[in-house]
Amino acid sequence: MAEHGVAQIWRKIKSIYNIQGNHCKTCDTYYFPPRPVCPECRRKGVLEDYRFKGLGKIHTFAVVRQAPDTFKRQVPYVVAQIELDEGARLTGQIVNCDPEEVEIGMRVRACFRKITEFGDKGIIVYGYKFEPVLKVTGHPYP
Ligand code: ZN
Repeated sequence: MAEHGVAQIWRKIKSIYNIQGNHCKTCDTYYFPPRPVCPECRRKGVLEDYRFKGLGKIHTFAVVRQAPDTFKRQVPYVVAQIELDEGARLTGQIVNCDPEEVEIGMRVRACFRKITEFGDKGIIVYGYKFEPVLKVTGHPYP
């Protein structure tokens, strides 16, 4: 029973770690998180697994100056809605960047960071965060 639970957690982690979504071949739309059914095509939709490249730009963002205890050390931090190059949007933290430097339209790429550690089994949860592409490569487009 317990092992089953751990396996489930790992499956979930794998999905987050890879930015695993899906793609509808019928209408060429990308989804994250993956949808069981394409909301546009419904029964005509043909869904396939898709691993996002993790490149995109900032659509909107907010600077968080107050946070629950677990995240207090990181305040202030930036949470943004990222529009991935494939068109899907997701929410993530912006790291490796001064909150003052963050702007709408900024090119970002996913990086994977430890978010928290929990349980006596020492399960570490990783998640995607985003960092400015410019800072990593020196070019706005990798
Ligand atoms: Zn579709």
